[in-house]
Amino acid sequence: MADCGMLYLVATPIGNLEDMTFRAIRVLKEADLIAAEDTRGSIRLLNHFDIHTPMTSYHEYNKVAKAKTLVDRMLAGQTVACVTDAGTPGISDPGEVLVQMAMEAGIQVVPVPGACAAVNALISSGQATRRFCFEAFLPSEKKERDAVLEELKEETRTIVLYEAPHRLEKTLQILLDTLGDRSLSICRELTKKHEEIFRTTIAGALDLYHEQEPRGEYVLVIAGRDRRELIASRQEAVRSELTLEEHMRRYQESGMDRKEAMKAVAKDRGITKREVYAQLLEGDSSEDGQ
Ligand code: SAM
Repeated sequence: MADCGMLYLVATPIGNLEDMTFRAIRVLKEADLIAAEDTRGSIRLLNHFDIHTPMTSYHEYNKVAKAKTLVDRMLAGQTVACVTDAGTPGISDPGEVLVQMAMEAGIQVVPVPGACAAVNALISSGQATRRFCFEAFLPSEKKERDAVLEELKEETRTIVLYEAPHRLEKTLQILLDTLGDRSLSICRELTKKHEEIFRTTIAGALDLYHEQEPRGEYVLVIAGRDRRELIASRQEAVRSELTLEEHMRRYQESGMDRKEAMKAVAKDRGITKREVYAQLLEGDSSEDGQ
């Protein structure tokens, strides 16, 4: 494996050419081959930085077959640099498949960091940044989208989504209908001349885009659900679905002894074990949790 080539994942600007790094330029110049998602777009970038490395196309529609060819070239000793349309390869673009296949073949994979729309939207959104999840684009197929949204309903981390301008209004409406109104940051045209970052709500954004047509590239950063409120609403749901006796019975039938069942019931209903005990004694579960 000593003379095996390497795979570099080279981040490129998402709008502003000044975000190209020195290292990205050097790696692209030194590579034997650049695998580019959009060769026509990348040629402008390469010309701008005086990079003359041969380029080949690697995109969504040839990603598996092309990845095999690229892996063969790396196994034969060539170094390949992967660049995508813009930003960081592998983030919502075909980079992922190439990385998996290269790793399976034992090829060293090296990230060359730089711009990424999701990360830059998140950090400038004003939303909580400590914990977040990235969903890329919501699926266009309804069943798949509904499944994702069902999971997002209870998501407590900040949610980062990509969206195209022509689908923005529809997506905002879907988000409002499923997640309810939430704090939302719209991050538009990041690093470009018409960059805009503003904090509103999902309903507020919908009102805005009813009046003005969305233009450019968008990242939506949505507040996650409040964890305490989520737990309280789950407890409320349990309390209204099951009486205390039914709840105890369910746990005991699953094999728990009375003490364990009381502990689990107390936790599920958001009440103390003492309250469970008292209510069981009273034989009246109608007021539990009050
Ligand atoms: N790999 C890229 C990255 O690292 O961000 C993302 C590629 S994904 C196919 C393209 C989407 O990223 C766009 O539809 C938009 O949602 C988002 N995006 C890319 N550039 C952007 C920018 N300058 N401002 C806002 N969003 C951007």
